[in-house]
Amino acid sequence: MCPIIGVTASMGVPHPMPDDNWGKDPRWNVNCTYIEAIQAFNGSPLILPSIPKKKEILKYLSVIDGLLLTGGGDIGPLIYGDNPRKELGSVDPDRDEFEYEIIKLAMERDLPILGICRGAQILNVSAGGDLYQNIYSEVEGVIKHYQNAPRWAGTHNIEIESGSQLKDMIGEENVAVNSFHHQAIKEVAPGFNVSARAQDQIIEGIECQGLSFVIGVQWHPETMWKKHPIFKNLFKSLVMMSEE
Ligand code: MN
Repeated sequence: MCPIIGVTASMGVPHPMPDDNWGKDPRWNVNCTYIEAIQAFNGSPLILPSIPKKKEILKYLSVIDGLLLTGGGDIGPLIYGDNPRKELGSVDPDRDEFEYEIIKLAMERDLPILGICRGAQILNVSAGGDLYQNIYSEVEGVIKHYQNAPRWAGTHNIEIESGSQLKDMIGEENVAVNSFHHQAIKEVAPGFNVSARAQDQIIEGIECQGLSFVIGVQWHPETMWKKHPIFKNLFKSLVMMSEE
């Protein structure tokens, strides 16, 4: 009951107030939407700072029942054997390393994992796949994947593979999702299947074949589920699988 879901965080300084000295200090950030989505389906969220040390990672794993990999900045390409293109955005090597390691160890333990946006990308990288650093310069004919519409709004369609776990959760083969990325999964990690693609073939979902619940989605269901209940099951399933 109420499994503990570890939630990864990003380092940053969120818009300090002009007279707030503390606000200028670096801090760990997690958007409330991730926390609310876990709580709404009876999970207990626990924010994990990205400390890339085996001792901390093992300790966290002894406490959590499931893992939510949140969105954020780009992933440094050295971690998957590539050099940075000029279009690469801001990266946080500590976060990359921490998530890379905790994913590997979580998968060894068959811990339920939901990776969202950057989370899906680092999941793929940790399992041995790689990324496009910037789809607009690396893939021809891409549609708009960084929307100016509100975060709850779906702006491009995806086609979901029949027979996938994602299809079981969402129930439909064609849905509109939001989109806030310029990186994307390129080579899918060994042992993973593509579960969804956009019309331009950009990968929007992956899942691990051999494990109970290791799912990555390129969109942000945590900002959509309240208006689009079709996405509730992603969080409900993460929490339910983490109970077992
Ligand atoms: Mn997209």
